[in-house]
Amino acid sequence: MKFPHLLLLLLFAIPAQAQDTVIRAGTIIHPQDGSVSIDQKITVTNGRITAIEDWSGSMDDSVTDLSDRFVMTGLFDAHSHMALVVDKRYDGGNYYVTGLLNPTAYRAVQGVANARNMLESGFTVIRDIGNNGNYADVAIKKGIDEGFIPGPHMETSGRIIAPFGAQFHLQPEKPGLGNPEYFFADGVVEIMKAVRENLHFGATFIKLVIDDQRYIYSVEEIRTAVREAELAGTYVSAHCWTEQGARNAIAAGVRSIEHGPNMPDEVLQMAKDAGVFLVGTEFTTAGLAWADPTADISAFEAEHLQFVDRLRRAYALDLKIVYGSDAVFFDAEKGRAYESFDVLHSWREAGVSNADQLKAMTSTAADLMGMSDERGALAVGLRADIIAMPANPLDDTNALYNIDYVMKDGTVYRHPGSH
Ligand SMILES: [Zn+2]
Repeated sequence: MKFPHLLLLLLFAIPAQAQDTVIRAGTIIHPQDGSVSIDQKITVTNGRITAIEDWSGSMDDSVTDLSDRFVMTGLFDAHSHMALVVDKRYDGGNYYVTGLLNPTAYRAVQGVANARNMLESGFTVIRDIGNNGNYADVAIKKGIDEGFIPGPHMETSGRIIAPFGAQFHLQPEKPGLGNPEYFFADGVVEIMKAVRENLHFGATFIKLVIDDQRYIYSVEEIRTAVREAELAGTYVSAHCWTEQGARNAIAAGVRSIEHGPNMPDEVLQMAKDAGVFLVGTEFTTAGLAWADPTADISAFEAEHLQFVDRLRRAYALDLKIVYGSDAVFFDAEKGRAYESFDVLHSWREAGVSNADQLKAMTSTAADLMGMSDERGALAVGLRADIIAMPANPLDDTNALYNIDYVMKDGTVYRHPGSH
């Protein structure tokens, strides 16, 4: 059956390759410097932007009319978990229980729905930072890349590598219950092996949990992971909750610190000097209280304010800050992207300007992921990841909740009136 197969390929390939898309954009926003360009013509050919110029020509049916919209490059969420859905109806809001209840296949199904929701809401790139069972993230990415399902471009961490126990508290008769959610690796030999196995099974970068136990990864252990990742052309992101964890991770040469609530100015400065990005996952009080609304709210408030204070200090030091939501909850009404956007409440509270919020969601995130020559800006030669919305996010980033046009790699996934 070789001949019909070939015909099918030709049918798909030729018309899609030849066509230009022309967009009339009312206002283009450039998050890198907060500037705008008015009444522009964007030409997209073969999934890439081939021209951006002042509008000319006539408006006919072939032109995508975004003349009353604010148009920019697609958004990034650098700390997301597509295949983790913490659903308190079943798991009491405890993701250890989630992992025990839900097999990887079901989590991949959930991830398909989350990925679609993220893309249709304006996220054209996400970094999936682990908690995927047995490589559900890699399967979802493959489905997206091969065109079976709609979703953002994904970077995948595979299984999170961590000291024994990782983020769980196990009991001695059932130590295996931490698998496959985490990849326990202690000492340089086990870490080297874990990194290689992870890369083999489809991780595009490496995620370490440094310090969620009394024993934490040493500089030498983290450096081993960094070296192995770099030899394979990628990098390490490090979950750091404690100050010592952050110090070790920075000294060892990680690319990013995730969370980092306990970083005094001196450690933030160390991160800046080392070129380390901060993906701060600045939780809102409501987000922290979600799992247990009956608990004392003041503890959550204090934790939220700790994150806001750390973001404010990092911003003042001009550290490379990247937006990452850590959204994981099931909320049928809101959806995953809505939960993600809620984290921007913390960014406003920390005094980060609207333009700099957008920068953290686009160009700085692309720098972190090493893809600035492909994505992260609306510019000629880059991939056509384009979003639009009715209100101006430079005035108020709450406008992002109402994104109603989404193109990724030149394919339109949402247009005004389609939802
Ligand atoms: Zn997370």
